[in-house]
Amino acid sequence: MRTTKWMVTAALLASLGAAAQQEANSNSSAPVRDASQAAQASQPAASAPAQAAPAAAQPVNAPQAATAQPPAAAVPTTMDDVVNLFIQHEHGLIKMLANRTPIVETYLQNLSFDPQLGPVPAEDHYFLGRMDMGENVDRKDYLRDEEKSMQQRLMGGFQKLYKVQYQPLGFSWMVYADRTDFDRNHYDFKYVRREFVGDVRCLVFDVTPKKDAGRGRFLGRIWVEDQGFNIVRLNGTYYPAPRNSYFFHMDSWRLNLIPGYWVPSFIYSEEGDFSAGAKNKLAFKAQTRIWGYDLKKGGKDNELTQIRVDSVTDETPANQDASPLQAERVWQQQAEDNVVDRLVNGGLLAPEGDVDRILQTVVNNLEVTNNIDLPRPVRARVLLTSPLETFSVGNTIVISRGLIDVLPDEASLAAVLSHELAHIVLGHNLGSKYAFNDRMLFNDDTTYQNLGFRHIPEEEEAADKKAIEFLKNSPYAQKLDSVGLFLKALQQRAPALNALLTTHLGNPLAANGTVTRLAALATQGPALDNAKVDQIAALPLGGRVKVNPWDDKAEMVKTAPVAMTSARDKMPFEVTPFFPRLARYGTTTAPAASPNTAAASNNPAASNN
Ligand SMILES: [Zn+2]
Repeated sequence: MRTTKWMVTAALLASLGAAAQQEANSNSSAPVRDASQAAQASQPAASAPAQAAPAAAQPVNAPQAATAQPPAAAVPTTMDDVVNLFIQHEHGLIKMLANRTPIVETYLQNLSFDPQLGPVPAEDHYFLGRMDMGENVDRKDYLRDEEKSMQQRLMGGFQKLYKVQYQPLGFSWMVYADRTDFDRNHYDFKYVRREFVGDVRCLVFDVTPKKDAGRGRFLGRIWVEDQGFNIVRLNGTYYPAPRNSYFFHMDSWRLNLIPGYWVPSFIYSEEGDFSAGAKNKLAFKAQTRIWGYDLKKGGKDNELTQIRVDSVTDETPANQDASPLQAERVWQQQAEDNVVDRLVNGGLLAPEGDVDRILQTVVNNLEVTNNIDLPRPVRARVLLTSPLETFSVGNTIVISRGLIDVLPDEASLAAVLSHELAHIVLGHNLGSKYAFNDRMLFNDDTTYQNLGFRHIPEEEEAADKKAIEFLKNSPYAQKLDSVGLFLKALQQRAPALNALLTTHLGNPLAANGTVTRLAALATQGPALDNAKVDQIAALPLGGRVKVNPWDDKAEMVKTAPVAMTSARDKMPFEVTPFFPRLARYGTTTAPAASPNTAAASNNPAASNN
């Protein structure tokens, strides 16, 4: 049965008590607020339409969905009616998504216990793939070789105590409660209460499999929104587990990204018991993110029509051939556009958006103060994945979502961007081979084999040197202490975060557990003090950039700062649970707090310097 494929096998049954965790957004102070304000101020006309854009754009993407639209008119009068409706809508969702192959990313941290900091990452694992939501939910990995070796390493390391095998698919299993048998014959549904989740009023039900319903049935709680009666959150596990095995606990969230449907978006998994005397030492936290629902299936035929070849003649003055230098620049731009388009089409790069403008404002601050005048403007884009990486192709700087998340402030963001700006200024362009369009014709899941932007050590060194020069002339010159602190925090965690520090397209920030990027700044600033609650050297993952799983658009998260009460609240580079603020499709929600005023008074990193 499929259940055996999805399960985690352990020779010892782990005890399943969940360790108490901090809220996901507790550390999220507003990022790069200067840049964000600058971006908004400089584009007052553009920012309002940009916010409305997702709503306007989505119906265009939704016609396929509309064919399977669940009936909206039914108004239930009893709880039995409600149960019938959400069962019906769950099957409607499964059918609507059956031809989708979204990207699914799982980042997992195995935990050990630190008396001061609590559970801390001891080692980590990363999985990235496309998930086929069809008849047999399946997951095809981008990282086949690396994944295999990671699993082998894990098995080797754990063999003495017990054998653990993480199946990437296991983490994405809870996209549905039960793909085949979610009905009254297999489950009992017990109404618990009403509850608001974000802006959405929900009915809460406990779900238990009936006796003899078979192995691997959903056991837990579901939240059902009270207008369309769709499941918006599932929390629990699967039961009963086969002998010598067990299922993860999962907390699965859906977002109302298209009319009538709540689409699986985030899944948090956690196991571990650090109470005194607990026998089982297996403990981990994992975040699974799903996006790219609206991507075309990655076949070669499709891509032939998707590739945009920019017209070379548009770029040169009329009636005149390009000079050799002009031709070289146009060629590089063609390569850059090819790569950017290909990464967007493959679901790895966010379409152009608000976050890019914030990044570009920071780059602009560096350029202006260093009198950098390039023939073409530098652009910045967001890689949608978690591993900490940056790279540049032509005049485009790419920075990963995970890296933006963990940076404590705008100065640190400027520091990582300045390294790539230095490559551009120094002419370290690696991408020009991608001006040949045949090099863009590959399947999405081989992106990492077909694209790469790694520099030789000499160029890395030169870029770091130039970057520090830029920073010292920039508005960030007085704030480099926080960059130093960030690098120290990264160094402290680097040996345990090999997967997070394994880059897939650009040069790594660290090699063999030692941070190499901008190493000259690592001595800057005060000593790292884990106990000091107001010293925020790095943030947890997931607190800054929010990605729309349907259209891949990225935006900055607006969260109210939460006061930290202990060193355990800091959780640098760590995985935390998801608590997205749910809202109905088409409603613009007010942020939890005004980001500008909150950030100004409470940004701990700012007060630190
Ligand atoms: Zn570099």
